[in-house]
Amino acid sequence: SSFDDLTFSEIIQANIALARYDRPTPVQKYAIPIIMAGRDLMACAQTGSGKTAAFLVPMLNHIFSRGPELFSFKPRTYTRRNKQYPVALVLAPTRELATQIYIEARKFAYRSLIRACVVYGGAPVEEQLRDLDRGCQLLVGTPGRLTDMLKRDRVGLDNCRYLVLDEADRMLDMGFEPQIREIVERSSMPVTGQRQTLMFSATFPKEIQMLARDFLDNYIFLAV
Ligand code: AMP
Repeated sequence: SSFDDLTFSEIIQANIALARYDRPTPVQKYAIPIIMAGRDLMACAQTGSGKTAAFLVPMLNHIFSRGPELFSFKPRTYTRRNKQYPVALVLAPTRELATQIYIEARKFAYRSLIRACVVYGGAPVEEQLRDLDRGCQLLVGTPGRLTDMLKRDRVGLDNCRYLVLDEADRMLDMGFEPQIREIVERSSMPVTGQRQTLMFSATFPKEIQMLARDFLDNYIFLAV
């Protein structure tokens, strides 16, 4: 099978080719159709499996092709009060992983006008705030820094159509459960009425099963 069998917008298809991905990895092959069908997903997948593209590509494709319904493509019209809030939010445990996801997102969003931002702790907050103030459609962040941004009221999650918890087991190991729960509580969406939630974890212990039960709705379980 190839990426051409999946029905992505032309720009997204071109960006997949530019990234030199010609064959989907197993997690991509199985997860992408589930995500495109609008289902919640709990996927057990390791680093190196290609899980990042498995969630980014269908989300970016949806944001791009349904863009006008979900957001405005005119970032310059945003002011601090009236700015684009993320349509997709990806939570990751570490600065390194958040940055990798952001870099991958920039590749797939190339020429799509979709703007991505990344926020993480251990770096000055001012630059990240200025970047957020320009608005974005996709936000990647670590739970601690993101809750800080939410408390400062510099980003809102009421436009969030997609929520991804990447490496959920590591986030719990690092003690981020309270922040994750706070973020999820804030990411209900009056605009679109529903949130699609995707969880990725290398392991599936009791704590992850409980998060899946609390956050996911009628989800599909995938182990690769
Ligand atoms: P990940 O598991 O998402 O961290 O991806 C591991 C590495 O594999 C990253 O460097 C990706 O850019 C690369 N990769 C993911 N999917 C594919 C694919 N279908 N073809 C080629 N490289 C890929």
